[in-house]
Amino acid sequence: MSGDPSAPDLFDEVIGQDAAVGVLRAEARNPLHAYLFLGANGSGVRPAARAFAAGLLCPTGGCGRCDTCRRVLAGSHPDLVQVERTGAALGVDDARRLALLAQRRPFEAARQVLVVADVHLAVRSAPALLKTVEEPPAATVFVLLCESIPPELVTIASRCAQVSFPPVAAAVIERWLVARGVEADRARVVAEGSGGDLDRARLLAEDASYLARHDLWRSVPSRLRGDGSTAAQLARDLLAAAEEAVEPLRRRHAQDLGALESESASLGEKNIPGRREVLERQHREERRWRTDEIRAGLGVLARAFRDRLFEALASGNADREVIERCSTAAGAITAAAASLERNPNETLLLESLFVRIGSGAERSGAPARR
Ligand SMILES: [Zn+2]
Repeated sequence: MSGDPSAPDLFDEVIGQDAAVGVLRAEARNPLHAYLFLGANGSGVRPAARAFAAGLLCPTGGCGRCDTCRRVLAGSHPDLVQVERTGAALGVDDARRLALLAQRRPFEAARQVLVVADVHLAVRSAPALLKTVEEPPAATVFVLLCESIPPELVTIASRCAQVSFPPVAAAVIERWLVARGVEADRARVVAEGSGGDLDRARLLAEDASYLARHDLWRSVPSRLRGDGSTAAQLARDLLAAAEEAVEPLRRRHAQDLGALESESASLGEKNIPGRREVLERQHREERRWRTDEIRAGLGVLARAFRDRLFEALASGNADREVIERCSTAAGAITAAAASLERNPNETLLLESLFVRIGSGAERSGAPARR
């Protein structure tokens, strides 16, 4: 794969993760028995797992051209086994299935690669999973995909080589979008709102109303007054927009469900097998999308304050109060975004944030009137 410039790169689909890709290229030559890819789904963990598996299964170490490489990259090689959970969490039944798969002999290649998604959701099945990962047969390599490492999974994580997939840099996402034909201005705004998540960037680029939502968050500093009723109105507007943002995903889910239904009907079955699980997963994804939307919006807002700060500093006649207010606001917004996951009351979170960063608005820069 080194001598032929026309050979496709296994890791072509992995965007903006040079450090992780460098580690995986080196590891593929002499792999350990278990890897943990730490990063969000949209950070490139899935294409990276396929590319790594191609390196491990290809007879020549990942040429990128042979039939093995092609099928592994397409996800259709029998020795690349992708394990998805069947319920809301990666449960005990899933762990049992995994233990059986791990014992299986490879069909074609010298080894098999088991890629397990959503391992951060294996809290209850952690002991069973640990046992499997600790005692793998020689021909099995595990790749565990994990968005975070909860306390129950610390031991499992310690048995794996960890490879980090941080959020993809906004500039990289912007270039990637432009290369896919997205117009430059739009690409910049979408990259900013993507939170370093390529899946999210892809959907936002196709979402006609995203620019308006982005502008709504950008407009917050000029609308702040520091009082409760303005803060409540702002929170209402932004949460309504976040709700609307989920619509394209809901439509896609409805289509998916329709396709499954007609498939079942053509097989003469009355119901989709596992219908409840499908609905639960869709609902979870929709909730997640909404939270991501709010978090990304807070990121846009924090940047709006930082831009103000830089403008004030660049203008030379920087008012001390403006500088202080903008940097305090940016810090408070970033903290609010970080606490979003464990804070079930988004309305309250946004309202108190807006009261806090809005107080003093009329004295210091923001064009606020009463
Ligand atoms: Zn190959």
